[in-house]
Amino acid sequence: MMIKKCTIFAFLLLLISFSFAQLGEKKNAFTHADTLRGSLNENRDWWDVLRYDITVKPDFNAKTIEGKVVVSFKEIKSGHSKIQIDLQKPLIIDSITVEIFNFKGELGIIPVKQVSVPFSQDTSLNVAYFNFPKLKNKLASFIVYYHGKPREAKFPPWDGGWIWKKDKNGNPWMSVACQGLGASAWYPCKDHQSDEPDNGASLSILVPDSLVAVANGRLEATNKENGWATYKWVVKNPINNYLIIPTIGKYVNFTDTMMGEKGQLDESFWVLDYNLDKAKEQFKQAKLMLRAFEYWFGPYPFYEDSYKLVESPHLGMEHQSATAYGNQFKNGYLGRDLSGTGWGLKWDYIIVHESGHEWFANNITSKDIADMWVHEGITDYSETLFTEYYYGKEAGNDYNYGQRRGIRNDETIIGKYGVNKEGSGDMYAKGANMMHTIRHSIHNDSLFREILRGLGKTFYHQTVTTGQIESFISEHAGFNYGKVFDQYLRDIRIPVLELRIDSVQHSITYKWSNCVDGFNLPLRMDKNNQSLTLFPETKEKTTVLTPDQMQLVDLKLIDRLYYIKIKQQ
Ligand SMILES: [Zn+2]
Repeated sequence: MMIKKCTIFAFLLLLISFSFAQLGEKKNAFTHADTLRGSLNENRDWWDVLRYDITVKPDFNAKTIEGKVVVSFKEIKSGHSKIQIDLQKPLIIDSITVEIFNFKGELGIIPVKQVSVPFSQDTSLNVAYFNFPKLKNKLASFIVYYHGKPREAKFPPWDGGWIWKKDKNGNPWMSVACQGLGASAWYPCKDHQSDEPDNGASLSILVPDSLVAVANGRLEATNKENGWATYKWVVKNPINNYLIIPTIGKYVNFTDTMMGEKGQLDESFWVLDYNLDKAKEQFKQAKLMLRAFEYWFGPYPFYEDSYKLVESPHLGMEHQSATAYGNQFKNGYLGRDLSGTGWGLKWDYIIVHESGHEWFANNITSKDIADMWVHEGITDYSETLFTEYYYGKEAGNDYNYGQRRGIRNDETIIGKYGVNKEGSGDMYAKGANMMHTIRHSIHNDSLFREILRGLGKTFYHQTVTTGQIESFISEHAGFNYGKVFDQYLRDIRIPVLELRIDSVQHSITYKWSNCVDGFNLPLRMDKNNQSLTLFPETKEKTTVLTPDQMQLVDLKLIDRLYYIKIKQQ
């Protein structure tokens, strides 16, 4: 997801978010529904989702959907049978059928019977329960039929739901955006980020045959009958629930390929018929993005599913192997530069940011949305890395520094665990500034790049905690950045470097203040092939330097590369 940006529209958003904030205040006293949604309770943690096979038929005029989901799973804790399914009001479950498999040696697992089971649905809590009959072996599946009028998104993608729009020629243009709100806003699932379908998913969409339906992964089959068309899309790789998304409209398609780190990468672009020429020009940037990010982060994580851009009825979203694009074929963020430096107008914000999520959010996903900085902080930093890759280091530094104007320090970046509550919007710009600060503190760009690529390899297609990411970075940097992460992720104060420079004694006296106990960010600076490292702590210390080293104490440079405040006495 991209950051919200101020316009009249955003003023309305502000108004809405103000009321949301008031709601939030009330909401900070979390509800039982939040806990059922946000935590892995005993009706969720004994079974592991292996695959979702979703079929959906939207009715554009009635704004309703009817659907079916086959959930294949593996028992990971025995002795349980009760299953919690998440589905948000006002959607209604019609029936639940379980499929019992038998393991027949080399015949593998064969379904022996389908049994319809009783279930209870509590729409006030957005959940339903049923008991799964005794499992003969670890693998099983159940089928949920459901229907209803899904929540409609008012300002997608920021507030989620189903989107019922028309394109400029009056044709239906539909899709969904549901990050945060959750996939259970439109299909039954285990709506917790920690459990992705390990064996991927399929999405079959039934639409009038005058329209085209696009989704994640590759198109496996199209079937046209009686004025209806069914488009079946298949994703081979694990995927976040909230990223499995149908997009329906008057689409045309063009393709390309790129020889990447893992061989040929298929690129496919789906746009509204009247935007084809504009798209063919603007989407040339996709290859530039793929090159830069394969350099910094390693191979695109979903070669099997291809890379796609899908023009969408909202600004954009990181839908895996079907990145939603709504930036109107402009550079910048709808033609504006979030950094205020001009560099942000050199490239298309949505192509770069939302595609950057393929590596951080889609390849590596946080188990709890409270750790969403792993998605947004590192992806927001990919904008700096893209700028640097094509326009040089100083351009990257400019861009990153310019983003500081968007930091609010309103609340901590880490949200509330177990209740589906993300932290501050600062996870974007402040997250990116934290990454840049740590990078310069490590002061070894080939090691830093190795760390970024190492994250992608070590946590390939996994869900993680922030702790795992923080430890990985510290371990591979060879310095414990634990206190630094605490400062930027769990505190809202900007650390202050207090220092006195004595140019006669060639000494500097310095310490950290306005920070967490034990804050110990090392400051490294270099000039003319000389470098100096200072290890300030919260306890004041004095260091005597050589005259050459004194030259290296460049407060402007420190301010530019480290997200701190400087107080010189
Ligand atoms: Zn994002």
